[in-house]
Amino acid sequence: MIYLDYAATTPVDQRVLDRMLPYFRENYGNPSSVHRLGQKAEAAVDEAREKVAAVLHGKPEEIIFTSCGSESDNLALRGAAIARRNASGEKWILTSKTEHHAVSKTAEQLEKEYDFLLEWLDVDEHGTTTPESLNKAVCSDTALASVMYANNEIGTINPIYELAVIAKANNILFHTDAVQAAAYLDVNVEKLDVNLMSLGGHKFYGPKGVGALYVRKGTGLVPHLTGGGQEFSLRAGTHNVPYIVGFAEALHLVAKEREERTSHVKPLRDQIIGRVLEEISDSKLTGHPENRLPNHASFVFKDVDGNLLLQLLDSAGFACSSGSACKTGNPEPSEVITSLGFTRDWALGSLRVTLGVDSNPEQIESFLKTLPELVEKARGLNKK
Ligand SMILES: *Cc1c(COP(=O)(O)O)cnc(C)c1O
Repeated sequence: MIYLDYAATTPVDQRVLDRMLPYFRENYGNPSSVHRLGQKAEAAVDEAREKVAAVLHGKPEEIIFTSCGSESDNLALRGAAIARRNASGEKWILTSKTEHHAVSKTAEQLEKEYDFLLEWLDVDEHGTTTPESLNKAVCSDTALASVMYANNEIGTINPIYELAVIAKANNILFHTDAVQAAAYLDVNVEKLDVNLMSLGGHKFYGPKGVGALYVRKGTGLVPHLTGGGQEFSLRAGTHNVPYIVGFAEALHLVAKEREERTSHVKPLRDQIIGRVLEEISDSKLTGHPENRLPNHASFVFKDVDGNLLLQLLDSAGFACSSGSACKTGNPEPSEVITSLGFTRDWALGSLRVTLGVDSNPEQIESFLKTLPELVEKARGLNKK
């Protein structure tokens, strides 16, 4: 099996796993315990927090460990929106339809169940949330804007600093979902100037089931998991010590190896994009042609059932992904793809190919040799 789905998840780096293992059976203490075993675990969590803060250029007390990227998004949106409204009454939330569901569904819930007002920010044909679209939407009653750093389905990178500047000038809290971006982009919160930023470990060779939320000092947050006083009383629950240790080590390694990881995947990605568009008729790139994640290629093929194509690829030994969350019966195109303006006959045929540390030229060559005939096969079956 050739794995081309690193945007869905990544294998745990061996060095990360080696760091984690002692915290399962040797140093298994509860960081909240007073005894030495507890203190040892607490020291590991403290060290992890410092490591994460160093990569983010934030302070350790601005890092909240969570159970995943989705939880970080939930805590950021719900926690900050409610705290903001409690403090000064603002009711509007701004986000876009290209956001991960962890953000967009949370925003919809805030509208439905918590009486917030929700406005969807426009995106351009590349899926970029532009400064103009944010400028157009802000008003004096806006509580929070949330715009993702890089899109998981189409790879587009948003101008986070430019957006954050507008938010700041209008006294609006700004959150960015950097879960997909952190594997390749600089997550320096001083440069980005955001109030809140979400991260998830398994997108950058850390374990699944652990994430972090950066919360700039002074940003009010209502906890959504109440109980013990862990994580500055913002997120109750006994610390998942090995996973937190693994998360920090994985993030540390990304920062250290960012350039070589980028120069490893980028030429392979460019080869995929170039050859697919050249060799497959009725194919288009989705997302931004240049301003996109270096490991990310995504396409739509006209009159192709994306799910069928994935099955054909799987049978041929390639693990890829599609934007459309279509199940058998009633396929619905992905909202991210349709928000770029593609009609249904294009939007249903989406394919995402994402690379990582173990990708190599032989794999890509073999993929590029196989894909055109599988697209034609899927097209043939679509017509029947
Ligand atoms: C994967 C992903 C998430 C969700 O992260 P989990 O850790 O899987 O919950 C959120 N946002 C983006 C952009 C993602 O790619």
